[in-house]
Amino acid sequence: MTAALSSDTSAPVGFLEKVPLERYVAPAKPSLVGLSRAELSDVLGRCGVAPGQCKMRVQQLWHWLYARGATTFDEMTSVSKDLRGMLDQRFTLARPEVVAEQVSVDGTRKWLLRLPGEHDGERPHEVECVYIPETDRGTLCVSSQVGCTLTCSFCHTGTQRLVRNLTAGEIVGQVLIARDRLGDWPHRRPPEGAKVPNDGGRLVTNIVMMGMGEPLYNFEAVRDALLVVVDNEGIGISKRKITVSTSGVVPNIKRVGEEIGAMLAVSLHAVRDDLRNTLVPLNRKYPIATLIEACRNYPGLTNAKRITFEYVMLKGVNDSLGDARALVKLLNGIPAKINLIPFNPWPGTRYECSDWEQIERFSEYIFNAGYSSPVRTPRGRDILAACGQLKSETEKLTARERMALRAMAMTD
Ligand code: SAH
Ligand code: SF4
Repeated sequence: MTAALSSDTSAPVGFLEKVPLERYVAPAKPSLVGLSRAELSDVLGRCGVAPGQCKMRVQQLWHWLYARGATTFDEMTSVSKDLRGMLDQRFTLARPEVVAEQVSVDGTRKWLLRLPGEHDGERPHEVECVYIPETDRGTLCVSSQVGCTLTCSFCHTGTQRLVRNLTAGEIVGQVLIARDRLGDWPHRRPPEGAKVPNDGGRLVTNIVMMGMGEPLYNFEAVRDALLVVVDNEGIGISKRKITVSTSGVVPNIKRVGEEIGAMLAVSLHAVRDDLRNTLVPLNRKYPIATLIEACRNYPGLTNAKRITFEYVMLKGVNDSLGDARALVKLLNGIPAKINLIPFNPWPGTRYECSDWEQIERFSEYIFNAGYSSPVRTPRGRDILAACGQLKSETEKLTARERMALRAMAMTD
């Protein structure tokens, strides 16, 4: 667990933050997935590879792991048989276990992944990972934690009891799984029925850290994983195509720019502290003014590299034209895009999505003030893959809740 997740005595009274309940314990035979070059070199050194050879061997492993998507040591034909055998005895190339795959009518795919927990017999940890195909790109929405310690009142993930940080390997593993299941590796036989790009392009072109969890509360693992993902000799997705979304963990915002260099998205959702305190309780710790200040100082911020501000449209709560006006004023001078997200309902929520006409009026006001203001089309609602609907199956819903949820999700 990172320090950020431990109990914080400076938090104001009444601050709502769950304590992580579960811990990850590495399996006896760990996976090499997610290791950096330096860590792989270490592994090889421990397997008896001479220091002078390590760099070349790392290069080979890297290529098989991240450019070819190898799932067994056996297929690493350029690696000596002895070394393959040695690695096989001690390590695996395992990704998180896929326990379910759902495909939406709009082509969105959701994978439910099972991860190891602290001890045998405990309930398994589960996270979800969602692939969203569009005409000009394919976006993978990746989870950073099982559940989330924060308790945003409109978010389904925030109601989940179980919380643990994912390892870098489990984060990179989500990208590998998407490529495995989509047939998105060059030189590999795609799974039955996969639509493989015939122009040599890739299906997973963009990554958003917008699945379960607060990525900046698991900063080191997210950073290490994304540094693997951007490496040109492997997965090779550019920093410009990776977005890290935060609910406003101010101290780590600068680090996203400096240590990852990814695009930043900030879940703003309200323009007044009193309202944001109830929607995003973390606001009590880092109020709007400090959050906006951190955004102004985001490293590398330019008109070509703008911050995305996410704003969920909640009927009668934050969707008035007065709110739109205050939003424009608040962001004045920050190179920004505003992403309006229609609220995705879930059973038991007290919120409703704003009326479509109101969303359009809001969007138009922002657009006229000079901001790009796309309304995010809800994707994969029929398989509960839309923003804020992710919640793992271990937190069982009753059959009736599930039906109600599906009915709500299907109606726009
Ligand atoms: N924890 C991070 C990233 C994951 S949430 C964050 O909060 O930024 C991804 C986005 O979905 C966030 O902007 C979040 O506020 C939004 N979201 C959460 N619940 C939602 C819901 N029910 N409907 C629409 N958007 C939601
Ligand atoms: Fe956590 Fe983000 Fe959901 Fe808030 S919106 S509870 S930070 S996942």
